[in-house]
Amino acid sequence: MDCPICEKHRYPTDTIYESKNWVITPGPLASQILGYVYIEPKRHVENWAQFTNDEIYELGILIKNVEAALIEILHVDRLYAVTISEAVRHLHVHVIPREQGMDVKGLPLIEQATQQKVKTEKQINEDQLKWFTNQLKNYFGLATSCKG
Ligand SMILES: [Zn+2]
Repeated sequence: MDCPICEKHRYPTDTIYESKNWVITPGPLASQILGYVYIEPKRHVENWAQFTNDEIYELGILIKNVEAALIEILHVDRLYAVTISEAVRHLHVHVIPREQGMDVKGLPLIEQATQQKVKTEKQINEDQLKWFTNQLKNYFGLATSCKG
């Protein structure tokens, strides 16, 4: 099986949070959106109907907790949770924050995140992304220690 998400989970480099069923990892710097993360099921699931009720239940809680964390860490006004899974069929949720005062919103912001077509003026660098990732790891606390 040639799946980039399964591959990433086999050799994790920057896991923010890991539970029994799900992994949270940072979005790419190229998206230029601070706070953009992926929520990915550990199992290779391509359709919503394949999830167990436990997995779906946990996903809802995770989205809720990620939003709470992002509101605390950044100045998040709206939080988008989007699934497309066309290019990579392993189902994954793009969690995309729109910060207060950010004038790019809706589909253009989703496109910026998922296609890295940058439209926002505010630029972020690697240090800021690392800072954010550490903040979010700290927020989720102990759960990150299970996989070095
Ligand atoms: Zn996969």
